[in-house]
Amino acid sequence: MSHRTMKDVKNIGLMGGTFDPIHMGHLVTAEEARQQFALDRVVFVPAGYPPHKEKGAVTDPEHRYLMTTLAVMSNPFFTVSRVEIERKEASYTINTVRYFAERLPGRRLFFITGADAILEILTWKDYRELLELCTFIAVTRPGYPLDQVCDTVAPKIPGLLEKVHFLEIPALAISSTYIRERVSRGLTIKYLTPEPVEQYIHKHGLYLPGKKDCSVEKRL
Ligand code: NAP
Repeated sequence: MSHRTMKDVKNIGLMGGTFDPIHMGHLVTAEEARQQFALDRVVFVPAGYPPHKEKGAVTDPEHRYLMTTLAVMSNPFFTVSRVEIERKEASYTINTVRYFAERLPGRRLFFITGADAILEILTWKDYRELLELCTFIAVTRPGYPLDQVCDTVAPKIPGLLEKVHFLEIPALAISSTYIRERVSRGLTIKYLTPEPVEQYIHKHGLYLPGKKDCSVEKRL
């Protein structure tokens, strides 16, 4: 794969998330989506300033980008894009998908992210165009009330369920929140995230109680 260029690539997965921090659940998700949807490549796109989150609520984008890069290094099908973290304004998904659609014409784009986020798509900027430009892979944890949620959201958007595929990932029992909480309580995170990410978190003192300089606020 490593000798292949983007020209050879037909199906591209865009793995969108805050990745604060990236963990094994995200990596299992991307690999499972790659296989099930015959993706030639998965591009991880860490959000810069997520539109639906408070300023200062997420760790500095540069830390999140570097942790994501460390996490995907060993998989030749995975890469990381800086497109959202370079933006000074909110990371609207429509801008990201347009960016890839313009640069990679003729490719089929899939946007992979948590089902909770995708099921709020009615509130996303230019969501109709987004549904035309890409297919969504909505990832769920076991026990997710999918039927209930689909009954609520699907009737509001005709054709939604043709453009959104649901994928249950048991490894998503791990969450970024769980990792942040464990670090702040001084508990081990070994095997929850790749070792280089674990080392990065400890080296930079991320997620410790009272840690102020993890904030994205200072960059905006
Ligand atoms: P979030 O609200 O932090 O996460 C919602 C749930 O989905 C969490 O349980 C999260 O688990 C999980 N999740 C997030 N990304 C995932 C992924 N790639 N694979 C598997 N599970 C994932 O969501 P977010 O990370 O801020 O946003 C998700 C994506 O949607 C981002 O790319 C964001 O830019 C986009 N989005 C766009 C708009 C818009 O354009 N208006 C609005 C909202 C979201 P973890 O915490 O463990 O990751």
